Order: sequence, then C-alpha cells, then structure tokens
Amino acid sequence: MSGRPRVVVATANQHKLREIRAILDEHGVEVELVAMSELGLDSPPEDGDTFEANALIKARACAQATGSVAIADDSGLAVDVLDGAPGVYSARYAGPEADDEANNAKLLAEVADVPADRRRARFVCAAAAVAPGGHELVVRGEMPGHLVDRPRGTNGFGYDPLFVAEATTDGRTNGELSPSEKDAISHRGAAFRGLAEHLPALLAVDPDTG
Ligand code: IMP
Repeated sequence: MSGRPRVVVATANQHKLREIRAILDEHGVEVELVAMSELGLDSPPEDGDTFEANALIKARACAQATGSVAIADDSGLAVDVLDGAPGVYSARYAGPEADDEANNAKLLAEVADVPADRRRARFVCAAAAVAPGGHELVVRGEMPGHLVDRPRGTNGFGYDPLFVAEATTDGRTNGELSPSEKDAISHRGAAFRGLAEHLPALLAVDPDTG
C-alpha cells in the first residue's frame, strides 16, 4: 500500500487514465489512480441531459461501488448552428452502433449548407469528482473553434478531423495536431486541470487511504 489516497477513475480508457495521471502529477496531487475496469466494475448508463449530469452519474456510481473518491468525465462536440447538437449524444449521433466515420458523415451532411462564418462549434468536457461521503465537484473545460467541410488528418479520434481549434493559428484540424499539441489546448485537459486544483480539498474532507 502506498499511503496515498486511492482515487478510482470511472473509465476503461487507458489513454484517458494516462492523461489524467499526467495532469495530477503536474499539479503535485499525490494519489493512487485506479481504473474502475481494473476493479471489474462497469460504468452505469449515461442518461443525463448535460455533460455535467453524465460525469456526476458515473462518478457517483463509482464512489458508491468502491467506497473511494471517484472521478469521471463526459465530453462531446456542441455545434452552434445545430443548437448544441450532437452534444451529449456525440458518441452515437448517427445511431447506437455508429462509428466515428458514420458520425462525421452525418455531421457534415447536417452543416452542408452552412457557410464557413457560421460553423462555430466547441468541444466540451465536464470532469467530476465524488467522495463516498457525498462531497462533489464538477468542472467544465471547453475548446472553441469551427468545423471544416471535409475531414483532414488521421490523429486523434471522433470529430477531430472536422474541427479547427481557435487556439490553432495555422488552420490545422485537431486530426492534424500532434497528441501533445492537442492535449495542451483540449477541453479534457482544461477540465482536468480545474479538477486537479480542487481535488486536494475534496480528499482532505473525505479521505480514503485505500
Ligand atoms: P467521451 O464522453 O469522452 O466518451 O466522448 C464522447 C464522444 O464525444 C466521443 O465518442 C467523440 O465522438 C466525441 N469527442 C469527445 N472528445 C473528443 C475529442 O477530443 N475529439 C474528437 N471527438 C471527441
């Protein structure tokens, strides 16, 4: 046992786990991070209407199931001219079994007639931490930008080939950024940096030493 408080991450995604670990390390937050899947537990269905609600649903279930402080995130793409769609339905925009290619094709069809100056969109991430004693916090991170009219680049995942971030000055899509270039400006990075700032206070009021 490390003596550091155990924090369970409600994900089976090793990439997310590594990204969260790196951000917590940068902030000097010393915890033992464990993925929920390593404990043989599954995430509950995400049926909330907002990113924040879904992140809290996952973190609460994980805290209850493990008796440890739990963190979770929920993210997606919100397009202004589509009133925030695909939003919390980003992963299944083109249907329950849809893959990235099908979701991207549907999005391109939805905005086909929208001129370049009205293609504003943002990636959004809500990151939540919940202690078994009931203390909760949730932080939102955003990456604003705009949609292009055909996919470019093979890096990243999801809608990355269709999105140019405002912070990118040379017009490359997220799919054309290196992983570290994207992490530095991403909605997930922003949300987890915010979470890392507040996590020590949550651990102090409701610690779990594993
Ligand atoms: P999750 O909540 O992180 O699982 O993300 C839900 C969905 O949102 C993904 O399946 C993607 O379609 C989309 N999404 C979230 N973050 C990103 C990103 O950084 N790039 C591209 N697509 C993303």
